[in-house]
Amino acid sequence: MPQSSPRAWAEIDLSALKNNLQVARSHSGQEIMAVIKADAYGHGLVPIAKALDHEKLPFFGVANAAEARQLHDAGIGTRPYILGATLPSEREEIAARAWTPCLCSFEEIDHFNRLGQHRPVSAHLALDTGMGRGGFLPAQLNAVLEKLKASPGITLSGIGSHLPVADEDPQFTTSQFQLFDSLIAKIHPSSQPFHIHLGNSAGLLDYQSQQTNLARPGLLLYGLSPLPEHQALIQPVMALKSRISVINHLPAGHGVSYGRTPLRRDSITAVIGLGYGDGYPRSLSGKNTEVLVNGTRCPLLGRVTMDQIIVDVTDLPDCQTGDEVTLFGKELLVTELAQKADSIPWELLTQITPRVQRIYR
Ligand SMILES: *Cc1c(COP(=O)(O)O)cnc(C)c1O
Repeated sequence: MPQSSPRAWAEIDLSALKNNLQVARSHSGQEIMAVIKADAYGHGLVPIAKALDHEKLPFFGVANAAEARQLHDAGIGTRPYILGATLPSEREEIAARAWTPCLCSFEEIDHFNRLGQHRPVSAHLALDTGMGRGGFLPAQLNAVLEKLKASPGITLSGIGSHLPVADEDPQFTTSQFQLFDSLIAKIHPSSQPFHIHLGNSAGLLDYQSQQTNLARPGLLLYGLSPLPEHQALIQPVMALKSRISVINHLPAGHGVSYGRTPLRRDSITAVIGLGYGDGYPRSLSGKNTEVLVNGTRCPLLGRVTMDQIIVDVTDLPDCQTGDEVTLFGKELLVTELAQKADSIPWELLTQITPRVQRIYR
């Protein structure tokens, strides 16, 4: 049987990914934990892990045991690090597979200590220096370290904290780095290597620590900077694409899409085969959103529907049915769409649905 090509697809540029990793390395001067949670920010967990598996990274950052298991099942050698507190039901598998959890509570320490009776669990300590999402408060640090000394089932192999406002509040973030560094100075690592980490993408790009030896970028690896002034350093990895399915000539005043947004002039409109069912946000409707048709920016008309959108190609008379359309990519950043959609690039990338075929280059 003949097989049709997809209506909407995401081109994933793996050489851009590797280039961005080099930027992360050289800019930070540190080892890199590649954060590949949430299907590698929509880029595909296993293909992205395979592309980075030979880069000698100490960890892949994942959200939970199920993501770590997908890596294991795909034969990935890089060790998964579970970002965030673990559920009791995940811990047996984490210990058995020697994945690295971060310890966020005394309950986790007790449980992993028991699970590590025969072979100690290598784990990091999570400190809460301002995120309020898990981890021990600075005032608890001495008690936690005492507790860990008395927990032979756990090998403490690192310590980390997280930044809530690295792209919003430089003053708070700078003080967080200073606090973290001063806390680390009190710790005498017993295991080698001992990983000390604080920076996400924005932290890596804009802040300096005297103590950290590992950074945890996510968004940056996918070629998007949370801080616009650093965007030129990196290249977007994903381009979301579709095609024109039909071209219509419609008179001024005619309605377009659900809600019947009226046309302001006699128009040539192109219907494109993708919508919010592919993860193209409906909230982009009526926000002066643009798409690239044959490299030219054309305005979105009316509301985004589940499977189709309509754009104004009146000023682009040469376009035809079947022509390629870019919704976002290197020339039109997903960051621009996120602003219009009142969202963030992290959310737009992770909500691209499975109907969009990922194509790796
Ligand atoms: C998701 C996550 C990151 C990556 O953040 P980016 O802003 O995408 O670089 C780093 N650390 C932790 C703990 C995370 O949950």
